[in-house]
Amino acid sequence: MAKIGFIGLGNMGGPMAANLLKAGHEVAGFDLEASALQAFGGRAENDAGAAAAGAEIVISMLPAGPQVRDLYLGAGALLDRAAPGALLIDCSTIDVETSRSVAAAAKERGFDMLDAPVSGGVGGATAGTLTFMVGGSEGGFARARPVLEAMGKTIVHAGGCGSGQAVKICNNMVLGISMIGLCEAFALAERLGVESHKLFEISAQSSGQCWSLTSYCPVPGPVPASPANRDYQPGFTAAMMLKDLKLAQQAAQAVGASTPLGAEAAALYQLLTNSGLGGKDFSVMYRYLRPPSEL
Ligand code: NAD
Repeated sequence: MAKIGFIGLGNMGGPMAANLLKAGHEVAGFDLEASALQAFGGRAENDAGAAAAGAEIVISMLPAGPQVRDLYLGAGALLDRAAPGALLIDCSTIDVETSRSVAAAAKERGFDMLDAPVSGGVGGATAGTLTFMVGGSEGGFARARPVLEAMGKTIVHAGGCGSGQAVKICNNMVLGISMIGLCEAFALAERLGVESHKLFEISAQSSGQCWSLTSYCPVPGPVPASPANRDYQPGFTAAMMLKDLKLAQQAAQAVGASTPLGAEAAALYQLLTNSGLGGKDFSVMYRYLRPPSEL
């Protein structure tokens, strides 16, 4: 069993750290929020450096790139406090550039660092069924694997540093685009007098089939577990989808990739969020695209 420091015990980090404890690891944790720290069942520390001290593996699960850069490189930098030889794993979803530059700084200081963003949401974090997309060295991946397995079901090595983040934002760009396409199709079918469940039944067996349709249908009814059946309670919020779509656009601009549908998806989720729906599940796009008279 490993000695682990866990920084960021929020909606995702809290249950992930709980699963590490359940698997028998020794976990010291820190969060800026007193309530998150109080809810943590392991050894609660007063700062990130204390949580990392003596740990063989340090895991961070923070909101975005600036917090990750600050944690590892800012005042009280973890790179100054982590034990020599510790493996550093950042599970936050952040921009590829920050991920690569922090990993490079870690390497200069003799640390192996992985980016290991997740998909599966709070439900997957709680159930220990997350998917981890891992970027970094083969050796680091092999060391991380048994620990990640306590928190997830699917653990994939995507390539070198930053590749986990790259895969995550590419996957979520597909998800955002496919969800919008599906919502448009359902709204159109209704206007054409076709019942939603008929479009579902036929598309689920046809070339329009996709995960957003058969596992996460944005109209109430056909998929009982989907957020559409509970007033679009998340799930995965529209605000989170917007964050990931913006990261994809940032990355596309940095490398000169053409992603016109990704840009359109980001613009639509921005409008939806501005309309006050950011806290709803991202499949609320269906409601957003229907005429107000039909809401
Ligand atoms: P969250 O806001 O609930 O948790 C983040 C935690 O980090 C907070 O408790 C905050 O107090 C803490 N924090 C911030 N800066 C800190 C610092 N310097 N030191 C210690 N603690 C600090 O967010 P979340 O939902 O847990 O998401 C975390 C990451 O996971 C994000 O990057 C998000 O994009 C990603 N993610 C979230 C979901 C989801 O469904 N919530 C799904 C996949 C990926």
